Amino acid sequence: MTDTAAAAPTFPVPTSLSPSRVSSFTSCPMQFRFSSIEKLPEAPGPATTRGSIVHRALELLFVRPTTDRTPEALAADMTTALAEYATDPDYLGLRLDADGAAKFERECHALIDKYFAMEDPTTVREIGLELWMEAEVGALTLRGIIDRLELDDDGELVVTDYKTGRAPSGNYEQKSLAGVHFYSFLCEAVFGKRPAKIRLMYLSSGETIETVPSAQSVKFITTRTTAVWSAVERACTTGDFRPRQSKLCDYCSFQQWCPAFGGDPSRAATEAVAAHEALLAQPTGAP
Ligand code: SF4
Repeated sequence: MTDTAAAAPTFPVPTSLSPSRVSSFTSCPMQFRFSSIEKLPEAPGPATTRGSIVHRALELLFVRPTTDRTPEALAADMTTALAEYATDPDYLGLRLDADGAAKFERECHALIDKYFAMEDPTTVREIGLELWMEAEVGALTLRGIIDRLELDDDGELVVTDYKTGRAPSGNYEQKSLAGVHFYSFLCEAVFGKRPAKIRLMYLSSGETIETVPSAQSVKFITTRTTAVWSAVERACTTGDFRPRQSKLCDYCSFQQWCPAFGGDPSRAATEAVAAHEALLAQPTGAP
C-alpha cells in the first residue's frame, strides 16, 4: 500500500436510498447509523405494526374486482390482514396479552372507519399496488414502494400514499409531501411520465393532502437526495454520525447506545441483537 492509498471507509457506504432513509439521516445521523448502516434490529412499535396491517388490508381491498370493494369487504380484509400478522415478528414482539390484542385489533379497524368517506374505491383505476420502483442517479440507486399507482379520468398517473399517523399542520405539510415527490421522481424515471397528482390519505383523520408535482419539485428531489447521499458517504468514511436530539429520542430504539444519552455506540451491534432475540424468545401474548 502506498502513502497515497485512500483510507478504508469506517462503514460500508450504501448504494441505495429510499425516502425513509433520507428522512432518517436528516432527522438523526446516529440513528441512521444504527438502523441503516449497521442494520440493527429495532423493537417493534404498535404504530408501525398497525400501519403495516392497514396497508395490507387496503392492498387486499384493491385486489378485489371493483364491484366487490365495499365496507364489509374492507372489514373482512382487515380481519385477514390481522390473521396474516398474528405470527409476524413485528406483531409477536409487541408482547400483547389478550386484552392488549383485542385493543390493538379495534385500533386497526378504527383506522379504516373513515376510508369510504375519503374516496369511492369502485371508481379507482389502479395499475399498481405496493409497487417496488427504483432508478439510478449517478452511482446511487433511489428506491421506494408506492402504495398505489392509478390513472385519473384523463389517463394521467396519480400516486397515492396511505398514512396512519396524524396529518401534519400547515407548516409541515410540504415536508410530509417530500416522500411522495420522491415517488413522483421514480415514476418519471421509470415510466418517462411525471404523475399529474400525488396525494397523501391520512386515514385516522379522514384528511387528504394533494399536490401537483412540477419539473422543479422533481429536480429538487434529485438535488436533495444527492446532497444527503454525499453527507452519508462522508459520515461512513469518517465514522462521524452525529446524534441529533429531538422529540424522536423518546421513541428511539437505540437510546441506550447513543452518546447523547451517555451510551457507547460500539456496543450496540452485539447488545441490540441479543436484546432483540431475548424479546422474541419470551412467551408470546395471545394474538
Ligand atoms: S436517542 Fe435521539 S439522538 Fe440518540 S440516536 Fe436516537 S434519535 Fe438520535
